[in-house]
Amino acid sequence: MSDPLVITVALLLVLAIGFTLSQRYHGELKHLRRRQAQLAREREVETQHRAQVEAQFEALGLAVLEVLVVVDRELRVIYATPGARALFGSGKQALGRSLIEFTRSVDLDQLAIDALAADEAPGRFRDELDRVISIANRPFRARAAAFDGGAVLALSDVSELQRLGRARRDFVANISHELRTPLTSIRLLLETLLADSPRDPEETTGLLRKIQVEVEVLQQMAQELLDLSQIESGRTPVRLVPTPVTQLISGAVERLAPQAARKQQRVRVDSVPELAVLADAELISRALGNLLHNAIKFTPAQGQIWVRASASDGDVVIEVADTGPGILPEDLPRVFERFFRSDRSRTGGGTGLGLAIAKHVVEAHGGRIWVESEGRPGRGATFRFTLPASDRPPL
Ligand code: ADP
Repeated sequence: MSDPLVITVALLLVLAIGFTLSQRYHGELKHLRRRQAQLAREREVETQHRAQVEAQFEALGLAVLEVLVVVDRELRVIYATPGARALFGSGKQALGRSLIEFTRSVDLDQLAIDALAADEAPGRFRDELDRVISIANRPFRARAAAFDGGAVLALSDVSELQRLGRARRDFVANISHELRTPLTSIRLLLETLLADSPRDPEETTGLLRKIQVEVEVLQQMAQELLDLSQIESGRTPVRLVPTPVTQLISGAVERLAPQAARKQQRVRVDSVPELAVLADAELISRALGNLLHNAIKFTPAQGQIWVRASASDGDVVIEVADTGPGILPEDLPRVFERFFRSDRSRTGGGTGLGLAIAKHVVEAHGGRIWVESEGRPGRGATFRFTLPASDRPPL
């Protein structure tokens, strides 16, 4: 073959191969571009899905009362609710940190380790993964459950529950004791009265008066328990009616006068006749009665008690002051709490409910109640509360 022919054939061959290759590459390029576009679409869908899941988790974290932390199998935090971030004070730095570093709680770390070690059938909760642990000096109920890639930890603060439980237990123990004391006295007094020995009428009257005192104690307790149950059930409707203040005060003072008389105490009333308030007379006379009852109870025999009322800035301030032992400064913020009784007064008898009821009643009227005391014997305590003044004349 001559040289030009060889060259031509070679050229044709090169062209043919080049054409075939370019066709093939063009096809693969097209395929590659299609694949790239598909991958980009999949990534976008995945990003959208992840954002949706994150938003769901964020909403879940805000809605649940529990504090939630999710960790992977290496105990690294992969999710923490806003509550968890607030509790452990770690701001937004929770993700990716180790659980112990994030929470600084060895007990919580151990709970997560135990949950991850469990190879229980999924969907079944193991009771030993439900514990009470202490975080920041507060008791928390902590529960854990494992899943394929880690574990979920749920925490709820049970300090209030524990406090209420304790208060209720104390209350029941206290009430039982307080019921037993007057009942025992009544039984002994009745036994004395029923004994055959002849007795002069004065002695009999004296014994009957003592029984009367004990019955009054029981009556006060029964009333306070009833008031409390009504308050707790939310069944105390407040009917505000224009009412003369003197009517409220004299009602309570007259009701408790026999108790004061027995201790030879003087109850002085100081109020202007024309003062009127918007009040539910029955409820306010109970609240005022509780204040007066305490003043009589805590003030020694022959002591002095004042009930005063005055107008002040569209309100009427009613005040009960006594000359008893007063209230220690550290007890002042707690006296209106349910079941609270200062150590000083534990021997005096009572439920620790009178002031809590008075506070509830006054606040249901839109008023305010507070106490002032130097906490020194003889200087007494002064309880004050406000009620809205009525500009309409009482009916
Ligand atoms: P209770 O009188 O049944 O114990 P309260 O709720 O009426 O319950 O009062 C709570 C506590 O507040 C009392 O136990 C007592 O420690 C204190 N307290 C209330 N009133 C007085 C008062 N006038 N003087 C001294 N302490 C008082």
